[in-house]
Amino acid sequence: MGRVAVVTGGTRGIGEAICVELKNMGHQVVANYGGNDQAAKEFTDRTGIPAFKFDVGDYDAVEAGLKQIESDFGPIDILVNNAGITRDGVLAKMNCDNWNAVLDTNLKSCYNTCHTLVPGMRDRKFGRIINISSVNGQAGQYGQVNYTAAKAGILGFTKALALETAKYGITVNAIAPGYVDTEMVRAVPADVLEKIVRRIPVGRLGNTGDISRAAGFLADEQNSFITGATLSINGGQFMAN
Ligand code: NDP
Repeated sequence: MGRVAVVTGGTRGIGEAICVELKNMGHQVVANYGGNDQAAKEFTDRTGIPAFKFDVGDYDAVEAGLKQIESDFGPIDILVNNAGITRDGVLAKMNCDNWNAVLDTNLKSCYNTCHTLVPGMRDRKFGRIINISSVNGQAGQYGQVNYTAAKAGILGFTKALALETAKYGITVNAIAPGYVDTEMVRAVPADVLEKIVRRIPVGRLGNTGDISRAAGFLADEQNSFITGATLSINGGQFMAN
């Protein structure tokens, strides 16, 4: 059955692949993005999927954006919290703006979207929420206290919300990708990236399909017994329990 699915940060990288996966499953997919209108236009031209601009870190903007999507397309039953940014630096050199931006975009965004959409999902007794964390939220990463805190926070958020929503037919799960070949990772200096790849047992970066297929699996209506789980997809780089 086709449902309305929203993917935050859906216009590029992992988010785009998830949008396409969900569309291929027969869902009406809507992407969100933060500010890159050109990338969003190219995405919509490529995929036929509409894109809505709002800042996932801003509660009022999220509420207005999601209400607009519901009025245009119908109730949102599948939510993928994928939008994310990095602002790296060791703690001593990290200013408040870089802390706040990363926490707001990566973690507060999950509160903003879920607080807006969970009441409707509860009423309809169905929901699939997938939160994109990171291996760095599981293992920790030098120079990323902000990103690591946000991505670890997503894992706790996922488990707590899974408990709160389980009896309403809503599942809440996290995916923790390892290093995936997107613009975010292409921004890492080549010598650092080479060292990272050497630490990945399968010997390569992930590709966006490695993550989007898992998101499709977790969004599947049949998979109603998987909730509060974290799916680590990292080529064996880190084996979290
Ligand atoms: P990209 O940088 O390729 O794309 C990020 C997307 O998020 C874009 O669509 C961007 O929109 C959107 N976005 C950024 N800030 C906001 C905002 N404030 N409001 C709304 N949308 C926003 O990212 P990736 O595909 O690499 O990463 C996707 C997710 O996966 C992130 O949460 C990331 O942390 C996580 N992840 C990525 C890994 C990797 O190796 N790539 C590894 C582990 C986790 P716009 O184009 O307008 O800027």
